[in-house]
Amino acid sequence: MDTTTRWIAILGIATLCFAIALFVLRVPIRTILVFFAIGIPLIVLWLYAEEKSKQQKRVNTITEQACICSICKHEHARMCLQQKCACCIMMKGDDIIGHSINPLQ
Ligand SMILES: [Zn+2]
Ligand SMILES: [Zn+2]
Repeated sequence: MDTTTRWIAILGIATLCFAIALFVLRVPIRTILVFFAIGIPLIVLWLYAEEKSKQQKRVNTITEQACICSICKHEHARMCLQQKCACCIMMKGDDIIGHSINPLQ
């Protein structure tokens, strides 16, 4: 987790905790909603950033792999990533979720 992501997470969680504390203190709900309105987008942003960095890590791991796929005949998975080979790159929507080096798949 990089510094920015960590701060987003801390801010988001702190804001939500503060909102819950206010709720316990019976502060008017409208005031609390303001904090929820700040906290929830921060959490969403954090989860999104987390997902992106996980994706980046996955891509980095694949880049170092060799490809023994008999369909595209690439030697390195890096080439498969660049060309998004349908034969061995596993996609989920626009996200790359893995590289299969099993020639039967
Ligand atoms: Zn392939
Ligand atoms: Zn390939």
